[in-house]
Amino acid sequence: MDMPNLVKNLLFPEFCTACGKPGNTLCLDCRQKMDPINLQYCIICDRYSEKGATHKVCMTRFTPDKFLSVFAYNSTAKKIILRSKFGSKSFKLLDILIRSNANMETLKQLPEIDVVVPIPMVDKIFNRRLINHSEYISNKVGDILKKPSVEILGKRCFSKSQKRLKKDLRFQNIKGWIFLKNQQTEIKGKRVLLVDDVATTGATLLEASRVLKMNGAEKVYCYTLAKDLRYN
Ligand SMILES: [Zn+2]
Ligand SMILES: [Zn+2]
Repeated sequence: MDMPNLVKNLLFPEFCTACGKPGNTLCLDCRQKMDPINLQYCIICDRYSEKGATHKVCMTRFTPDKFLSVFAYNSTAKKIILRSKFGSKSFKLLDILIRSNANMETLKQLPEIDVVVPIPMVDKIFNRRLINHSEYISNKVGDILKKPSVEILGKRCFSKSQKRLKKDLRFQNIKGWIFLKNQQTEIKGKRVLLVDDVATTGATLLEASRVLKMNGAEKVYCYTLAKDLRYN
């Protein structure tokens, strides 16, 4: 450790966000516990699919063409992502995941895109979240791919919690909650990369894809930093 860093660490000691051990924002042990997803899955049937392409038999007019995820949403990933929603370490933690080799390899599996679109956050007056995760990730991924990130989607408040609903019910529940904020010219005929932090059932991504394709998007590829594999 060089001198300035040593002094900085004495004054402001760093602790691992996931396990609390002193040292780094994310210690080596926890970095190794992150589980990169090697096999990608079809967003509709949750079965294996090469490079996350939606199976031909699963494809309808409004379904996404592809779905890629970087890490399995295991307990370490969960801690990192949940903690990165609040506080000063937010960006630092997300940057660690975004700059990881696993992410770079995942992004290489993407076809050519025109624009990056984040999944919107619910507009609430008393929103305690400091940052919109998907917007931040979308901007960073846009920088890496050298494509613009546009916040074109909006989300209405949910009346019911999604957590206890089964997958197909969740999809019904979410219908109509995502809408296009701006002019549709921004996505007409475009190949869109839809970005979120975590995918659980994929219902939000499916609904966003429906809205984008209904408004003329040519292709929709979904991408999340983590994926809950319990549904696979
Ligand atoms: Zn740790
Ligand atoms: Zn399928």
